[in-house]
Amino acid sequence: MVRKFFVGGNWKCNGTAEEVKKIVTVLNEAEVPSEDVVEVVVSPPFVFLPVVKGLLRPDFQVAAQNCWVRRGGAFTGEISAEMLLNVGIPWVILGHSERRSLLNESNEFVGEKVGYALSLGLKVIACIGETLQQRESGSTMAVVAAQTKAIAAKVSYWDNVVLAYEPVWAIGTGKVATPVQAQEVHLELRKWLHDNVGAEVAASTRIIYGGSVTGANCKELAGQPDVDGFLVGGASLKPEFIDIIKSAT
Ligand code: PGA
Repeated sequence: MVRKFFVGGNWKCNGTAEEVKKIVTVLNEAEVPSEDVVEVVVSPPFVFLPVVKGLLRPDFQVAAQNCWVRRGGAFTGEISAEMLLNVGIPWVILGHSERRSLLNESNEFVGEKVGYALSLGLKVIACIGETLQQRESGSTMAVVAAQTKAIAAKVSYWDNVVLAYEPVWAIGTGKVATPVQAQEVHLELRKWLHDNVGAEVAASTRIIYGGSVTGANCKELAGQPDVDGFLVGGASLKPEFIDIIKSAT
């Protein structure tokens, strides 16, 4: 089963209209492997989504960084999955650790969001990952399994799901997981999918790594058999994002 390499760029809450256009220009001019080899999805803040979608080369896609848990309505400040589809946004990142920790999004809430977004036809980058304390206490697998279980409970069509393993201690810290650490968790996650969802889903679902991925460390991580790509934060705002895309080959 060939899993197409996936590189996501999570721009988080960064950028001005001018900066965003500059990043898009760099991406548009880059020579990267074809879309048969690597799927590239960038995720600007909501307000820049339409402009980025309009300017971005057609072989790259866009993702929102969040969406509401159910149909829109009287939910001040929220953006619904329907709205994303309405303006042609195909992907959404859900369950990012910053939202889990800063906005208290629980496993169940993330699972609900994933289920609702998928039910409308959005594709989802579903994020999971343990804190440093959880890793040091030996509960990494229990934590990511519980997070994955809450997501899996709401997924019936896995083709539209990418699972992003992002250890919290590695996000924005410069402390990247070693290739061995990443591979170990990715393999365990694939086993979890095999045992709890099915062999086919386990073999075909992309499990990508996130947390201080750079142009310098991506190649070795990409060489791990169960690392199917990356979700990149800080480095996705810089030209080195191109090197990360190129690590697909
Ligand atoms: P980072 O962020 O690459 O800046 O560590 C990754 C993420 O939060 O997706």
